[in-house]
Amino acid sequence: MKRETIDLFNRIFKVLEPPPDLALSQWADKYRRLSSESGSKGGRWDTSKAPWQREIMDAITDISIEKVVVMSAAQMGKTDAFLLNTIGYYMHYDPCTILCMQPTLSLAETMSKDRLMPMVRDTPALRDKINEKSRTSGNTIFKKAFPGGRITMTGANSPTELRSRPIRVLLADEIDAYPPTAGAEGDPLILAGKRLTTYWNRKEVDTSTPTIKGVSRIEMEYEHSTMEEWNVPCPSCGELQPLEWGNLTYTVDADGEVQSITYACAKCGCIHSEIEWKDHFNEGKYIAKYPNRKVRGFHFNSLASTFFGWEKIIKGFIEADQALKKGNVELMKSWVNTELGQTWEEEGESANKEDLLKRREKYRCEVPEEVIAITAGIDTQDDRFEIEVVGWGVGHESYGIVYKRIYGDLKQAEIWKNLDEFLLQKFKKADGTELRIVCACMDSGGHFTNKVYRFCKARTARKIFAIKGKDGTDRPYIPKPSKNNREQAYLFTLGVDTGKSLLLQRLQIEEEGPGYCHFPKDENGYIRGYDEDYFKGLTAEKQVLRYKKGRPYFVWELTGETKRNEPLDCRNYAQAAIEITGLTLKEPPKKAAGNSTQTPPKRGRRRGNRSGGIT
Ligand SMILES: [Zn+2]
Repeated sequence: MKRETIDLFNRIFKVLEPPPDLALSQWADKYRRLSSESGSKGGRWDTSKAPWQREIMDAITDISIEKVVVMSAAQMGKTDAFLLNTIGYYMHYDPCTILCMQPTLSLAETMSKDRLMPMVRDTPALRDKINEKSRTSGNTIFKKAFPGGRITMTGANSPTELRSRPIRVLLADEIDAYPPTAGAEGDPLILAGKRLTTYWNRKEVDTSTPTIKGVSRIEMEYEHSTMEEWNVPCPSCGELQPLEWGNLTYTVDADGEVQSITYACAKCGCIHSEIEWKDHFNEGKYIAKYPNRKVRGFHFNSLASTFFGWEKIIKGFIEADQALKKGNVELMKSWVNTELGQTWEEEGESANKEDLLKRREKYRCEVPEEVIAITAGIDTQDDRFEIEVVGWGVGHESYGIVYKRIYGDLKQAEIWKNLDEFLLQKFKKADGTELRIVCACMDSGGHFTNKVYRFCKARTARKIFAIKGKDGTDRPYIPKPSKNNREQAYLFTLGVDTGKSLLLQRLQIEEEGPGYCHFPKDENGYIRGYDEDYFKGLTAEKQVLRYKKGRPYFVWELTGETKRNEPLDCRNYAQAAIEITGLTLKEPPKKAAGNSTQTPPKRGRRRGNRSGGIT
């Protein structure tokens, strides 16, 4: 028999060897030692200490399963359980070629140095498998050979490793953090997946904490899987159920410390403590939505953890909730991703019309004391101007002053004169201080572009500027103005979507302070113009998430309730005007010199209100 034929038979027999009979959890309990680098005290691995990991581990080494997907909360022992154990198992028990992919090459380096090698060092069954000392071994930080196989550590940002030799086991970690393309080569997960194709007993494990709904890779993978959710039994009735944040109740004392924590059964309603629930976690199991699907997908949140208590999760929520009320959504997004292990839905965000309408207050004067400077935004329509005058306080806390419509024929001089007079008027505080509009932005789109240029050019000293809106959330709000038009007037091409996002963020702030938006009620016959139609217009558009080539971007769309979005545009332009002035809005207003910052310096005008300004 020829040598080649014998080799071939040997290879065939090797392939036909019976599958190993230790499941991954059994292998780990028997052989794996923990390292101090993983944040543990070291010692033997014990799967019963983290019951939610067992079924997932055993699915990974189940010969009938090609792909395992884990979408989960963070800090749940994923690296040790599903990556390192898997590497150790194959290295020791079923040698083959393994590719372990991290989001970046530098994360792969950290993984190799701080996790993989300590495991090899501390686990006797693996200790002699990798020869680090011999110069001839060819081992590097990223490539380790062992008898019968090798492991390659790589980054999803590094295309070279993703298109070389075939592999049998692909471990793709934190896939939601992968770049959309590895260099110019394309999707890193697809590239790596192509290297698996030659093996009948190939294995792919994808793990990640999810990110944004609709773009999360791990959620897409999970939704095409068996969709298995971690369930635990009720201490009273024994009903298996997923652990849900909504069923948890807690109280907080005056110092903000979390006091009592209880969890109610979704079936019988019985309330038990955290310890009572956790006593039964070893009886937990995964329940699949689609048990017949080939890819096994698992989901669990951090309530399942036996590593830390529920108080940590509650504290994180309280902190995120407080930030959310101040208009900062980032902490809550991150809490939902890392604690609930769920995607964050950003679809269709808009300000709430009813809430804003209810927010209206009586100023008891034309302009509140807190206002430092006043700006205006002007929307140009064919038969009218719509104008909002806005007062700005410390930290861009804003005060709607008046919303005005001036009707007329824009071809005639009169309406332009009326607009000019409106913009020249003084606005009074309770103490008599008078403020003028320091800057105004006027829409030049539509049918009267050159007239707007001319009007604004003649009023450059008053900082009345022509603007043009440009869509796209990646555009700067206030770029440098150009003079490239027939009238050679300054023209600001505003990134209006960026301005709308900033405005939406401010409208969602519920506590008075920086960024909060005040709106006035009509008082003593002074019609301010902040009626229901105004708020319909202000909230006429919503921010919607769209995708181009799998990447998210935001667009603004009409909600459908009204097409009259002029109030939104006017506020956006008035907001741009205060940005154009460059005023820092930090100092509280000084009574005698309240408007000293307001006059264009060129004029050298002083309006010191010697008369006291009271009419
Ligand atoms: Zn129950």
